[in-house]
Amino acid sequence: MSASTEKMTVGFIGLGIMGQSMAGHILAAGHGLCVYNRTRAKADDLVAKGAVWKDSPGDVAAACDVVITIVGYPKDVEEVYLAPGGIVERARDGAILIDMTTSSPELAQRIAAAAADRGLTALDAPVSGGDVGAKAGKLAIMVGGDAASFETAMPLFDAMGGKIVHMGPAGAGQHTKMANQIAIASTMMAVSESLSYAKAAGLDQSAVLDAIGTGAASSFLLNGLGPKMVAGDYAPGFFVHHFVKDMSIALAEAERMKLDLPGLTLARGLYQRLVDGGFGEEGTQALYRVYTQMTGA
Ligand code: NAP
Repeated sequence: MSASTEKMTVGFIGLGIMGQSMAGHILAAGHGLCVYNRTRAKADDLVAKGAVWKDSPGDVAAACDVVITIVGYPKDVEEVYLAPGGIVERARDGAILIDMTTSSPELAQRIAAAAADRGLTALDAPVSGGDVGAKAGKLAIMVGGDAASFETAMPLFDAMGGKIVHMGPAGAGQHTKMANQIAIASTMMAVSESLSYAKAAGLDQSAVLDAIGTGAASSFLLNGLGPKMVAGDYAPGFFVHHFVKDMSIALAEAERMKLDLPGLTLARGLYQRLVDGGFGEEGTQALYRVYTQMTGA
């Protein structure tokens, strides 16, 4: 049977903004699906569509060939994988474990080593493309870890993603995601500054976005989040507090590599102001709040 048609029994842990849609694509592709989430109600829609609820990450692992996680923070990843009775301890022989959370490269390596000790393989496979990409099944997926397991898991990645790349050994997926977040950090400041300037110059900000949105400054963030900044729509697609988490991981890695990244440092500081101001549960486009405060616009 070819890998692309083989149906697997998949466990999915973490059914938030991203996981909810991603797990739905796995189910829609015809794979068996077991689910667990800290808040059970978020599993209701998937269970209504045929997914099976399990009472813990360990229970999911004991029932599945492949376990996928997309939780919140590295501490959540560590808990679901490495805690007593967790995924690594209870996974079936030969299982493939795939963490799609944005988490630390070092933790990805630690989980891969713990999995290997038990004859399992673990992949780190963080994603980019936001809630929109997750809903559309068009995420960019950057994967670190065992190449053979990557190939076996490809039908699952295909169900969730558009661009899927094996980047190297354990941790390489998370390092690639950090490169992505570093690019986003300075771009978010750039979009905010551009809109602040346009307003101060007396321009119609929406007309400016329309004019420059197909030019050299065009980007997913300018075109997708710029209009939300103009509208004052700060509803979360990607939480501010998660972005601060990502930038903190990237800065720690940069420090370890003795790399100075001034744009990233500045962005983390500005986003931290949002968290301190009580806006951590808003979307990352809320950075524009900081600029309106600074410029009085
Ligand atoms: P989210 O809505 O907060 O989803 C996280 C889910 O994981 C929640 O449902 C949460 O449960 C569950 N969870 C957390 N810790 C858990 C644990 N220990 N055991 C079981 N379930 C646990 O966040 P999200 O936006 O989907 O993001 C998830 C991850 O993907 C984050 O690392 C984020 O940085 C990354 N990411 C997000 C985006 C985006 O645009 N949103 C894009 C790329 C990557 P509760 O329901 O109880 O809170």
